[in-house]
Amino acid sequence: MTTSLPLKSRRNAAKVSRQDQHFLALVLDAWSSRRAVGPVSFAISVATGIGAGTAGVALQMALRWPAVPLGVQVGIGATAGVLAMIATRQRFAAQKARQAAAMALASSFLDASRDCVKLLDLQGHMLRINDYGATLMEASSPRELQGADWLGFWKGDDHDAAMAAFKSALGGTAASFRGSCTTTAGQPKWWDSQLIPVKDHGGKVIAVVCASLDISNQTRLLAELRTKSELMSEMEAHVQLVFFSYSANFEYFHYITAGSSNVFGIDREELLRNPNGWLDLVVPEDRVALQAEMRRVMAESTEGRAQYRIRKADGTVHWLRSTGYPVLDDNGNVLRIVGITEDVTAEQERIAELDRLAYTDSLTGLANRAALLREIESRCAARKPFGLMFVDLDRFKVLNDTLGHLAADHLLRDVGGVIRRSLPDDAYVARLGGDEFAVLIGSVVDKAGLEALAQALLGSLSANRLQGGGAGAFITASIGISVYPEHGSGHDALLSSADVAMYTAKQTGRNGYQFAGEEAARTIGDFELERDVPEALATNQFFLHFQTIHEPHSLAVHSAEALIRWQHPARGLISPSDFIPLLEETGFVSDVGVWVLDHALRQLAAWRQAGAMNLGISVNVSARQLGNEQIVRDVDRALKQHGIPPGKLEIELTETALMKNPQQAQKSIVELKRLGVRIAIDDFGTGYSSLMYLADFAPHTVKIDRHFTSKIEHDPTTQTIVEGIIGLAHKLGIKVIAEGVENAAQLAILRRVNCDYVQGFLLSEPQAPEGLMTQRA
Ligand code: C2E
Ligand code: CA
Ligand code: CA
Repeated sequence: MTTSLPLKSRRNAAKVSRQDQHFLALVLDAWSSRRAVGPVSFAISVATGIGAGTAGVALQMALRWPAVPLGVQVGIGATAGVLAMIATRQRFAAQKARQAAAMALASSFLDASRDCVKLLDLQGHMLRINDYGATLMEASSPRELQGADWLGFWKGDDHDAAMAAFKSALGGTAASFRGSCTTTAGQPKWWDSQLIPVKDHGGKVIAVVCASLDISNQTRLLAELRTKSELMSEMEAHVQLVFFSYSANFEYFHYITAGSSNVFGIDREELLRNPNGWLDLVVPEDRVALQAEMRRVMAESTEGRAQYRIRKADGTVHWLRSTGYPVLDDNGNVLRIVGITEDVTAEQERIAELDRLAYTDSLTGLANRAALLREIESRCAARKPFGLMFVDLDRFKVLNDTLGHLAADHLLRDVGGVIRRSLPDDAYVARLGGDEFAVLIGSVVDKAGLEALAQALLGSLSANRLQGGGAGAFITASIGISVYPEHGSGHDALLSSADVAMYTAKQTGRNGYQFAGEEAARTIGDFELERDVPEALATNQFFLHFQTIHEPHSLAVHSAEALIRWQHPARGLISPSDFIPLLEETGFVSDVGVWVLDHALRQLAAWRQAGAMNLGISVNVSARQLGNEQIVRDVDRALKQHGIPPGKLEIELTETALMKNPQQAQKSIVELKRLGVRIAIDDFGTGYSSLMYLADFAPHTVKIDRHFTSKIEHDPTTQTIVEGIIGLAHKLGIKVIAEGVENAAQLAILRRVNCDYVQGFLLSEPQAPEGLMTQRA
């Protein structure tokens, strides 16, 4: 019989410890004497029982945990069965041999088992535990647990379950239960226990085999999984986010998270049943674009994104953003679309708020210039006619100066309100800055209608005695009107033609309105430059005025700035601010520039001849001229032609001119300096990076813009800035001219802050050279 044992069992049998042998013998003895059961048959029963038990547990394990090799476990069980049969047939063979065989068999099964296998007496005491079981129970040896009260290991509900299973086994029926008990070392473990009754020949239960599978790891993993999934569900339930996996073609969901209740207000079970439920909520205006994007994702197999609004069942409107990623198979076909939809309502509201701030005039709460430009462009894009009114308050500067800034601000707010109230509801009212307002009107676009509105507006403005901080002030305005598309196809043309019309209205007596068109064109309009400029040059329509620049203390004349004028035969006297920009757009500015240079130097030569040998001359040079090296040759030639020392000529360049093409400007400046000509930066402080120019272009002079000068007496900040500019310039060896000096107070301050030169109406207005000579004399 021993030869039929599997090799491993035989080896194990041979290795059965003396302690085990002793233990088994003890059991067999005890039972054979007390129960009068043949020790051999009992040993065989024990062996059979344990074998069957192990097989039973193995089968259960295999079913529940398919990873455990079924074959091994069943093999043990089957072998046990076969061996039991053989043993029974040879029941009457030599007792010793059988006893030895039975013990070896029992021991080998015990040791082969990966369960904690115990033999319990009818009171639940452990008669025997296998070696591995002792290890699982963290006992130093099986002996440590011998005689221990098995039921005593279980506590609470687990104790009840253990008791029930044990009672069932005592009653002859195998039972199982799951529970946790601690090892001898006090470590809690989870067990899946199987209790099998051991019966004698008469079917009487004489012991119970308990085989416990240590399921602590699985239980822990399961618990972790459960916690994680609870955590996930909790998060899903609280965030404004839903994850989904859609079938290709968006026909049904494979999966959708609990977040759908938050995001769509539809729970996921409902969406699994009715996958279009969420689409039905999308507001009609957004649905077409959304569905187009979904189709595109399918057609192009690329990621898609859409932002749209839904109206939930409770009537609230929410902004959602969905992103879908197609998952492709090896052939590039879309298998499914996974993605995420989030509620971005809060984000949208923040954006809207920022947008509102960026496009609102903070003083009046009306739209600002940027908003107006955007609105004009969007209306132009829609190609529907609309009227544009450019409203400018008359003599606001005077009001501002007499009332003070606070009262003036108050007044501007009131004016905004009056404009809004006296025009149709759909009028789009904006403040462009200062005392300029603009209105877009879409409902009235014919000339008579717009005229009536302008009249009404002027009426309400002058009828309202506006409260400028208590001091009532009568307000009148001048209005220029342009109409899309008649006067332009974009904001530039529409605003400038309305602006020009407004300017005409002011000239023709204020408190009136003017349509863009012929009347306005008379002031500036489109010059026929091709014809006009050559003719102007040929027939001396251009002439120069000179404005003197003075030493601030002695008021001695230091130099004169040449300022061009155009006496147009049809349009009258035109100021350079009106035609220089037009000339800039064409090449004519260079021709005119050469003319200015020539005439300015000729004039200086005349003054020099009259004795003013120290007098300098300043000439303005535009961006376009500077972008061409021809300027250097022109200057060189003119200086030579009129015999002027180069150091007496100062070229004035505006910051904007320098900004247009800094590299080319730099080149021309270097060349001009090489000739010995002086360089001045004009309108200093009005550009964006003024201080940089000081380093980059190393001018001889800067001319502080007249806007600074005009504020210097009332605004300490401006005074500090001017003082700072002068200090810095002096450190760099640069002279400073203050422009636009109009009163004695300004002059006093400029003297105090060490300004090198002053220029402005206080000292002299630009005038013909003859007058200037008499003034000098
Ligand atoms: P700018 O170079 O800043 O010239 C000074 C302007 O300020 C002149 O206007 C002058 O009349 C004005 N002004 C002088 N003193 C005062 C004052 O105390 N208060 C006020 N409010 N204004 C004062 P203007 O002559 O109408 O020239 C306007 C601009 O046209 C000039 O500004 C200059 O940029 C340009 N410009 C004039 N002549 C020429 C030229 O020959 N060539 C080029 N390229 N540009 C020129
Ligand atoms: Ca100038
Ligand atoms: Ca200037």
